[in-house]
Amino acid sequence: MRKTDRELGMLRQISRRDFIQGSSLAALGLMLPAGCTRADNSSTESTSSFGYPPTRTGMRGSHPGSFETAHALVRGGLRFDNPVDLAEEYDAVIVGAGISGLTAAYEYRKRFGPESRILVLDNHDDFGGHAKRNEFHQGGDMRLSWGGTMNLEFLSFSDTVLQFLAELGIDVQQLSKDLDFHYGADGPAIWFDADTYGRDILVPGFSMYSRNLDTLDKIDQFPISESDRAALKRFYLSDTNVLDGMSEGEVEHVLHRTSYAEFLSRHAGLPEEVVGLFTKATDGYWGVQPHSLSSSEAMSAWLPGSHLLGDYADRGAGLVESEVVAMFPDGNASIARLLVRSLIPAVAPVGNARDIATLRFDYSQLDRSEAAVRLRLESTAVHVENEDGHVAVTYVRDGKNSRVRARHCVLACYHAIIPYLCPEVPEEQKEAQRYQVKHPMLVTNVLLRSGKAFEQLGFTGAYCPGRLHAKTWLIKGVNTAGYDQGGDVEGPVPVMFWGMVAPPRQDVPIHDQLREARQVLLEMRFEDFEREVRTVLDGMLGPTGFDVAEDILAITVNRWPHGYSYGYLDLWDPDWEDGQAPHEIARQPIGNITIANSDAAASAYTQAAIEEAMRAVGELT
Ligand SMILES: Cc1cc2nc3c(=O)[nH]c(=O)nc-3n(C[C@H](O)[C@H](O)[C@H](O)COP(=O)(O)OP(=O)(O)OC[C@H]3O[C@@H](n4cnc5c(N)ncnc54)[C@H](O)[C@@H]3O)c2cc1C
Repeated sequence: MRKTDRELGMLRQISRRDFIQGSSLAALGLMLPAGCTRADNSSTESTSSFGYPPTRTGMRGSHPGSFETAHALVRGGLRFDNPVDLAEEYDAVIVGAGISGLTAAYEYRKRFGPESRILVLDNHDDFGGHAKRNEFHQGGDMRLSWGGTMNLEFLSFSDTVLQFLAELGIDVQQLSKDLDFHYGADGPAIWFDADTYGRDILVPGFSMYSRNLDTLDKIDQFPISESDRAALKRFYLSDTNVLDGMSEGEVEHVLHRTSYAEFLSRHAGLPEEVVGLFTKATDGYWGVQPHSLSSSEAMSAWLPGSHLLGDYADRGAGLVESEVVAMFPDGNASIARLLVRSLIPAVAPVGNARDIATLRFDYSQLDRSEAAVRLRLESTAVHVENEDGHVAVTYVRDGKNSRVRARHCVLACYHAIIPYLCPEVPEEQKEAQRYQVKHPMLVTNVLLRSGKAFEQLGFTGAYCPGRLHAKTWLIKGVNTAGYDQGGDVEGPVPVMFWGMVAPPRQDVPIHDQLREARQVLLEMRFEDFEREVRTVLDGMLGPTGFDVAEDILAITVNRWPHGYSYGYLDLWDPDWEDGQAPHEIARQPIGNITIANSDAAASAYTQAAIEEAMRAVGELT
């Protein structure tokens, strides 16, 4: 029987709810339609009320207070009339302080001069967008993890991006060489939970992803029927070319017009329950489940099947992404931090890319009137318009509805909000922007008192086919950029839970699947995630003596209702003609307003966010 909330330690005081009780409550008041205008026109010098957001725990990512204003605009049709004009003048206002917005600010100064006055607005209480640092001190020494974007697949970077990273002082080759973290691939396991499979069973040494014939006997431990186990073994063992004798068109159909789930059942002959074991296998990597991915796309995410494609294997699995990556201990938050440091040196007067992970930033320096670049957090842009050769930007912060003007504006925010922000965008372009429905994603970090239980059980990462988060990894430390966790599991160690929320309905178009899953994610409370990770850790590690009520020091949920940028999918999108793809239409400039964000590339990658920022700044005249 599952433990009660009390037995799981749900009622204990751990580090988790501090933010919700904090400054964001004031922002929640923003939902009130009346009284949106409560501003004076004095400068909006930030105080240090932001504290140090990377150490906040509880609900992060789209945290309470960050999205209500935008939702009031988009869902509630609220107008933010009568803003108060601030006595601040800028060359550029940038909406969004993710990698793209920060790169736009950096590029703007390069192009228009270091004296350029720039205001960067972001609705969150921390900068970086998906590039979010999770910093823990609850166990004594600092422990780092990341809340969103993780690694740099630098082998595919353009010279422009490599040059940009080099300017920030980042040696990606060295960073990659220094990396000793493998997302659990060096100690894989599969964990079957009692709620779904009747009893908790951990099977260390087995990965669903690789076709490792030496570990097939592990399948005997799977809590599925004997015939299902035999079918799964046959699947891995077989080398029958299921495409044999097919025409070119039929091969194309199997690879690109057949879902991976259907491929497994129809072509690989797997029974329904065995196909179900793969349902969550693409959750983190794609943010789309195998019933909505083509077989080729799923195999590009390392799912097995290419061994059944004969000579066509390259066309199915040839897409496999690079496993060679570079990484900072806080993921790509280090890039955001290097950018902020370059734009506003006062946040961290000393330091560089080789020790960026260890620096504590002074957030009180982000928005100072004497600085050329100001970064204003907890500020949601609600209206942007061209006006007599400049751009007027209205934003809401702390219940106040204010307006600033600038020569230029770069919208580095999600494209789906632009039609509401910027009514002058032509209808066809708005339609294209609405097409960019981001994938809802989830990264939950749990700080354990120690990682010994993982060592005892002999695994570093597990696939959990029955749970909310598809995967979990022990983070013994990404020991780069000055950070060294020591690789020790005796002391506090973060464990990451990675995944997405399954769409409530699978049989609807992909955009509806994504929107519906987003709504579920938004409606989940912190307690729901807490109960989930406690239940998993109890079931998985409990047999070693791990005490779920005592051995959890902190929980940080990074929820991303607007996660990965929508990239076109085999089963759902036509082959757009050159220039006619939604992202190409969506990113067109409107007067002195240009459009960045990884949405502008229809590609959920850091390099895309960087490239699109450079293009957007390049379009400003
Ligand atoms: C969980 C996760 C893992 C990922 N892992 C990787 C990875 O390992 N490698 C990789 O290359 N990429 C990864 N990505 C993709 C990642 O999205 C990009 O790498 C990149 O960080 C996107 O940056 P961006 O600036 O375009 O968008 P964002 O990071 O989304 O930044 C946009 C910012 O604008 C803000 N904003 C929106 N509207 C407004 C408004 N009206 N007013 C003010 N602010 C607004 C948003 O809240 C946000 O802070 C990952 C993404 C997620 C979600």
